[in-house]
Amino acid sequence: MTDKSHNDKTDDMPENPNKPSAPVHFIRAIIEEDLKTNKWGGRVHTRFPPEPNGYLHIGHAKSICLNFGLAAEYNGLCNLRFDDTNPTKEDVEYVDSIMEDVRWLGFSWDDRLYYASDYFEQLYDYAVQLIKKGKAYVCDLSPEEVRQYRGTLTEPGQNSPYRDRSVEENLDLFERMRNGEFPDGSRTLRAKIDMASGNLNMRDPTIYRIKHATHHRTGDKWCIYPMYDFTHCLSDSIERITHSICTLEFEDHRPLYDWFLDQLGVYHPQQIEFARLNLSYTVMSKRKLLQLVQEKLVNGWDDPRMPTICGLRRRGYTPESIRAFAEKIGVAKRDSVVDVALLEHCVREDLNLRANRVMAVLRPLKVVIDNYPEGKVEELEAVNNPEYPGAGTRKLPFAREIYIEQEDFKEFPPKKYFRLAPGQEVRLKHAYIIKCVGVVKDDKTGAVKEVHCVYDPQTKSGESADSRKVKGTLHWVSAAHAKTAEVRLYDKLFTKPDPDEDGDFKASLNPNSLEILTSCAIEPGLADAKPLEHFQFLRHGYFTVDPDSRPGNIIFNRTVSLRDTWAKVEKKEN
Ligand code: ATP
Ligand code: MG
Repeated sequence: MTDKSHNDKTDDMPENPNKPSAPVHFIRAIIEEDLKTNKWGGRVHTRFPPEPNGYLHIGHAKSICLNFGLAAEYNGLCNLRFDDTNPTKEDVEYVDSIMEDVRWLGFSWDDRLYYASDYFEQLYDYAVQLIKKGKAYVCDLSPEEVRQYRGTLTEPGQNSPYRDRSVEENLDLFERMRNGEFPDGSRTLRAKIDMASGNLNMRDPTIYRIKHATHHRTGDKWCIYPMYDFTHCLSDSIERITHSICTLEFEDHRPLYDWFLDQLGVYHPQQIEFARLNLSYTVMSKRKLLQLVQEKLVNGWDDPRMPTICGLRRRGYTPESIRAFAEKIGVAKRDSVVDVALLEHCVREDLNLRANRVMAVLRPLKVVIDNYPEGKVEELEAVNNPEYPGAGTRKLPFAREIYIEQEDFKEFPPKKYFRLAPGQEVRLKHAYIIKCVGVVKDDKTGAVKEVHCVYDPQTKSGESADSRKVKGTLHWVSAAHAKTAEVRLYDKLFTKPDPDEDGDFKASLNPNSLEILTSCAIEPGLADAKPLEHFQFLRHGYFTVDPDSRPGNIIFNRTVSLRDTWAKVEKKEN
């Protein structure tokens, strides 16, 4: 996949006037207070800690924008850290894609790329320290027994029969766990905290489990792997993170985060939780996205219908639009669902300035202009982007035979149909006014094959005689000059605002989420468009060139239509 999507923005392009200014949210407030009290010596150091077990999605983008964004805002640093403690689910393919996506979003970790697996030796030492302090023990209960002993929200747990092993025995067993003497699942190392705690996470949580599995970075060096809660706080500590920003489901884990660091007496970052992003009509869990990919319900992680960053990129989203979205949704302490129309609104606002207006006829119908000289070709001037004069103009060939959209002609028009119909006039964008004088039909089917018109030479666009007004303006392309393109139109991947509502998200997959049109007629100049270049097809929406395009076989993906349902909502509210 190439990364050329926003070469088309030039420096003199005006800033988006609707670009949101930074609101003060509770995390900014915390950081500002810390800077005032000099809590971290004036430092702001965050991290983005993905687990490389899938591709990043728009929810991760929120976290990336927050962590990297805050660091940039306060002259701080943000690390990229792979939280790679689960060898059976992780893969370098994911590591590579995550780096590509973070970069594409416009952020840099400079030389601060870390892997939790780099800390395995140090984490092992920390575990040994806990054992020596009598704060951890090797437990021989099976996973099932551990569950039984844990108790419930209303009942306290019971102590493991192995809880009071001597330090010596624990040290010996833990070392032998490391040396591979025991099979998977036979033993764990557990923190010795409180089996009666009201917080289940504090009931002697597992620190290490045995897993004879090859890790994508450490190979077969380890057969015991540290758990997330233990690894995460200590990785934050090792990297001297100041603000460890995570999603709300970790609020109940914070006492454990603090406990490990306090017991070991090491540098202690502050964990801060915020509400994760949920989007309507979207599933975001990596497990579910993986299922869509593996069961071939979509065409891979970067299918333009996927909420993954690579899917959004292929769909035609820009990094700027995603960053603007992340800023607009803000940061809160309570879970909510964001309307997917807001995401679409953000990309429209961005592409409005960025994308040249061009003409593409998706379902062509031939129009012959009877009084236009045969063989004559005019080069008409067309403005590329009325919102941005710097985008310049281009020449469009006009000739006797053109294509218009099938839906722009009706032999028997309903009332208030301002497009082409027998006896009716329309303007051809950038060209002339034409009037329909007849149709040619297919002998067998009776379908309209060809529409005949006459043009008024006095009505050329942009010239003084162009004063006559008609109600409809149609886009078109010259039949002899048009190139053929494939156009892919997307609809929502799910039919329900909450695809998970009935517990079976696949049941609400939209069977009509992709429509492929293979004989679209495009302006000749579009045939050379580069992958991920953006365009507005007049009256059809914003489109981008699919990276699978080949010379002579260009494919466009529709990013969004032009109808902005969010702008309407906003107007009503104001
Ligand atoms: P998922 O639940 O989608 O499988 P995850 O939380 O397991 O994702 P991680 O790789 O652990 O994925 O996430 C990396 C970071 O991104 C974490 O700090 C996590 O809190 C954050 N993150 C994940 N999903 C969201 C979301 N929907 N909104 C905001 N932040 C998110
Ligand atoms: Mg996670």
